[in-house]
Amino acid sequence: MKGKLIRLSILLLAFSLTFACDHGKDAAAAQDKNTPTPAPADTSLPVLSLPPDSGLPPTIDSARAMQYVKEVVKFGERPIGSANHKKVEDYILAHLKGDEVESDSFTADTPEGKFPVHNIIAKYPGTKDGIIVIAGHYDTNYPLRGTGYVGANDGGSTTAILLEFANQLRGRKRDGYSVWLLWTDAEEAVKSWSDTDSLYGTRHIAAQWQQDGTAKKIKAFLLTDMIGDADLDIDRDANSTQWLEAVVYEAATRLGYQSHFFARNNAISDDHLPFMKIGVPSADIIDINYGYNDVFHHTPQDTVDKLSPKSLEIVGTVVLETVRILDKMDPLPPK
Ligand SMILES: [Zn+2]
Repeated sequence: MKGKLIRLSILLLAFSLTFACDHGKDAAAAQDKNTPTPAPADTSLPVLSLPPDSGLPPTIDSARAMQYVKEVVKFGERPIGSANHKKVEDYILAHLKGDEVESDSFTADTPEGKFPVHNIIAKYPGTKDGIIVIAGHYDTNYPLRGTGYVGANDGGSTTAILLEFANQLRGRKRDGYSVWLLWTDAEEAVKSWSDTDSLYGTRHIAAQWQQDGTAKKIKAFLLTDMIGDADLDIDRDANSTQWLEAVVYEAATRLGYQSHFFARNNAISDDHLPFMKIGVPSADIIDINYGYNDVFHHTPQDTVDKLSPKSLEIVGTVVLETVRILDKMDPLPPK
């Protein structure tokens, strides 16, 4: 993933149960990540008509999620095409035994040659017509292979949190939208980040789901990336759907975790972009500043000791609360 700082600002955030969605803040549409990004004139979130807060808040087992991170990291480097990559694929599939699982496998043509790519999808049916996709990548950075880079946060944390989501969803009748968990592959660039050298897995599956009509049924695409940092500061992302960002912030507020969200404004290039392009409302839930001045990001220092189960719990419960709010929002804001 790649990010660009827009600016620090104080967000004026206002929610209301009575006002409709404001569509005037599509700040990111024309941004190019290679050129300086102008600060948006207005960084306030859209004001939504939201369902009242009711029922028990969601929970996850953050110690178990942390244990998954450790087990995944133990495999070592997991770049596409490697034996360790295959091990983590098998590890994910072993944890989904008995669930409805699909894989989206293809060969990616990259600047470093051809690689097998495997997106993994686990489906948990709901009573409501429509799908919410929760995604996160499981590959580790290819150019850093051979350096001892294990991607505890960048690749490991998301592999783990999705496995914990599976535990929470499995065997329970969902009174809401169907939830599909998507472990994305080949998110990382193999040489240097560009539109064609990155996001191989999501570009493939977004095209496929557009073609077979699945995309029309997806109500929201919630992406997680680098969510284990003990010093958790989730970015407000200008490249995400702004009404969905507002729902994420509402979920964080309802759980009392809002101080970990949206103090920074960024425009992030990540696995949500292929879905944004085909009109699926998407939100990237990412803390792009990993260590002071991002020093641990894409370095061999991205190790488990920088992570906290509390951060997994914060993001995990906020994602599940976001789903719970979306379940009750009827109708959802227009795409
Ligand atoms: Zn990365």
